[in-house]
Amino acid sequence: MDLRSGLPFWPMKDGLIRTYNPLDADLDVDLCVIGGGITGAFLARAAVLSGQSCAVLDRRNIAHGSTAASTALLQYEIDQHLTDLSDQIGEGNALLAYRSTRDVLTRIEAICRDVGHSDFEWKDSVYFASDSKDVQPLRAEFELRRRHGFDIEMLERDDLRKRFDFETECAILSRAAQIDAYGLAHQLFADVAERGGRIHGRVQVDSIDERSYDVVIRTVRGRRIGCRKLVIACGYESLPFLKSPPRVDLNSTYAFVTEPLERWDGWSGREMLWESARPYSYARTTPDGRGILGGDDVPFRSPAARDALIPSRQARLESRWKELFPRIPLEVASTWTGTFAETRDALPFIGTPPDQPNLFFALCYGGNGIVFSAIAAEMLTAALRGESHPCQSIFRFGR
Ligand SMILES: Cc1cc2nc3c(=O)[nH]c(=O)nc-3n(C[C@H](O)[C@H](O)[C@H](O)COP(=O)(O)OP(=O)(O)OC[C@H]3O[C@@H](n4cnc5c(N)ncnc54)[C@H](O)[C@@H]3O)c2cc1C
Repeated sequence: MDLRSGLPFWPMKDGLIRTYNPLDADLDVDLCVIGGGITGAFLARAAVLSGQSCAVLDRRNIAHGSTAASTALLQYEIDQHLTDLSDQIGEGNALLAYRSTRDVLTRIEAICRDVGHSDFEWKDSVYFASDSKDVQPLRAEFELRRRHGFDIEMLERDDLRKRFDFETECAILSRAAQIDAYGLAHQLFADVAERGGRIHGRVQVDSIDERSYDVVIRTVRGRRIGCRKLVIACGYESLPFLKSPPRVDLNSTYAFVTEPLERWDGWSGREMLWESARPYSYARTTPDGRGILGGDDVPFRSPAARDALIPSRQARLESRWKELFPRIPLEVASTWTGTFAETRDALPFIGTPPDQPNLFFALCYGGNGIVFSAIAAEMLTAALRGESHPCQSIFRFGR
């Protein structure tokens, strides 16, 4: 499947950072990762830091799947409110999910520092009520999170008028971060390669033989990779590797990036923005002074149907920009679209399915997929040490 199209910003800005050659010999490693996006990058680095010999295979060039299209807002707020998630999975489990996504942000910052990723930036994140009917649920969400010690503030209409030109009754202000996911994936893989990991792009996997004690992978070009543990980090293309795939819904989202802006009237704090409507609009800025606006998600039918909507979606996003930022002149530099997946409870599926004991899956789905990818790497580290991880039950297969 074609995961994205149009012109995503980061591959244009950073260019083709590095290519890794296809596999040209048979290999035996402790651990093989299939999937060279941001998830595979976090996982492969976790594996080499755990002392595993590791190979990464991707059928495209590295980081050219969804990762290249990602707007890369790092929020601990899961796509489902803590109140709703509590109703679905119990308050203790919902809090565990929210605290895990919150706490991993500082560890992502540390990883970014380790690999020289300078685009990591802490940001204020403003989650606003799109509609009067959303005000009460948003206030209930604020109360629950505050009661459990989350560092948040309620912004009322007058506070919001000081920050923005658009009108809304209230919003939750929290701390979040942003990165360049494409650049970070490359930096993580460069680090993996320096630590002895093998990374190969443009490798088509032909077959996977799951045996009692190991896994044998064969590529279309006839190479064989033997490993004790196989990690599947193929994003939205991971499902065919599962014997019992979970139910997930595929959607397409649209985004544009502006030319560098000269004025920030009505957005001087350059906050990250998102809203209570579903699907929601999301906005951020870039270190080189651009604005990004995304949203207008539609159910995914086919790459052609998704791509045919790019002009009309761009027009709708432009109208949305004018509602949100009426005093910031808009000059769109590029527009793109990408497909993403959602699970029923907005939580990822991470771990080893009971019927595939030598495989570890990282299906980091949802609006904050990258945050889940970082947690998946920590869960892999725990699994390699034979330890349990607090999230393993809430992210398990078969839930
Ligand atoms: C427009 C857009 C905006 C987004 N915004 C955000 C955001 O703001 N914040 C956030 O956290 N998340 C966001 N996401 C989601 C985020 O981008 C994803 O969670 C993340 O990129 C997924 O990374 P991944 O490595 O799991 O998947 P991918 O980046 O898709 O990587 C999977 C890799 O597996 C490879 N692969 C697949 N099948 C095979 C196979 N059979 N053999 C070999 N290789 C294979 C692919 O080629 C690909 O390179 C957004 C997504 C989109 C599309």
